[in-house]
Amino acid sequence: MYFKVFNYIYFYNHVKKPTPVLSSFLLIFLVIKIHKHLVSIVSGDLMSYKGHNKKTDNLSENNIKLLALLSLLTRPAKDSGDKEIWLKDVALFSLVYRGIISNIFDYDYSSRLVIWKGFYRFMNISQECLSDLDFLIKKGLVEKLRIATKTHWFIIAYRITEKGIKLLENYPTVVQEMQEFLKCKKHGEIMKLELENNAPYLRCSRGCKEEITVLETEDVSYNSEPFSTW
Ligand SMILES: [Zn+2]
Repeated sequence: MYFKVFNYIYFYNHVKKPTPVLSSFLLIFLVIKIHKHLVSIVSGDLMSYKGHNKKTDNLSENNIKLLALLSLLTRPAKDSGDKEIWLKDVALFSLVYRGIISNIFDYDYSSRLVIWKGFYRFMNISQECLSDLDFLIKKGLVEKLRIATKTHWFIIAYRITEKGIKLLENYPTVVQEMQEFLKCKKHGEIMKLELENNAPYLRCSRGCKEEITVLETEDVSYNSEPFSTW
């Protein structure tokens, strides 16, 4: 590239014999042109990369992060003797809530009634996350399990599929970001989620413990007035 530019100036000088001032202007002009050219190549590459993913995967940033989170906590069985790992919905919602308040997920949330350890509790759940899970299920990237318990409650759990694992090979940085999200900041190890009676906790093997405040629902102020149809 530089070689070509140099030749061009030389050629111009040779034919028209411009003044040194004009040569300098030409050089500046060419440098600006080259800079613009390089910038367009770099940004063009990035755009086509993003465009490619959008076209083939049709997944949002939240979708990929959600899938990456499931890839770290669940897994399908490799053969008939292998163990599958599923994640309970309330456990997933706890982590997603932690992700929302840490600006990892761009979701809203609202208070919903769930069964937590056999009792009704209000929990901050994202409707957008639920829609994204349905979308990932439709795409065959996630599977949903519904089990009836002896006491007639239903347990819902989620797990990544082989197709989901394969797709994440295109997004190693997102997987890494979600690994960091689950790591204990002090010891750098991935923390384990435990659902206790009062709240979910993330624990590391060296004693760190972090409460996820997903069951602390916010009070919404409202006014009520008697209503009559008359
Ligand atoms: Zn720790």
